[in-house]
Amino acid sequence: ALEAGREALSRLVLDIPDHPEPGVVFKDITPVLSDPAGLAAVVAGLTTAGLDEAGAPRVDVVVGMEARGFILAPPVALALGAGFVPVRKAGKLPRETHAVSYDLEYGSATLELHRDALAPGARVLLVDDVLATGGTARATAELVETCGAEVVGVAVLLDLAFLPWRRALGDIDVTSLLSIE
Ligand code: AMP
Repeated sequence: ALEAGREALSRLVLDIPDHPEPGVVFKDITPVLSDPAGLAAVVAGLTTAGLDEAGAPRVDVVVGMEARGFILAPPVALALGAGFVPVRKAGKLPRETHAVSYDLEYGSATLELHRDALAPGARVLLVDDVLATGGTARATAELVETCGAEVVGVAVLLDLAFLPWRRALGDIDVTSLLSIE
């Protein structure tokens, strides 16, 4: 499953230079999502991150980060027999939240999680499209831990290997289908 996902990503992801700002190469995953075999392959690849060595599900909840995590996390949750919980940008969730702010290259961002979304001890897999600095995943892990739940891993389609996401994530287990050098 990991190999089929990697193959689909290398074939279908588009590089968009200087988007959304000069110097950034934006990874456009939408051609992967619109390709039936590609979509199945990457969902199956991400799902492996939620399985134990015997192939049994090892998570209760899949958390997806706004916005592209919202697309990928629900099919992974369905495949694992788990629930889906959204982590959103500030001001979007309607009830009481935990919030965490973190630094971006310019300025800062705030992410929120409903206070009652995760039971204490719940085993949680984080899903997003791209791991860059790791700031988004680190902040999401903090929100999960604030609820007393446990981060069992982070699963992404792509990681940007030239950025310091590993330092941000410490010893959290990371599954990335394709590393960009
Ligand atoms: P970071 O917090 O730096 O790890 O950035 C991760 C978030 O920003 C993810 O939610 C990605 O969707 C998005 N992102 C960062 N860099 C890129 C990129 N080069 N192409 C597409 N999305 C990106």
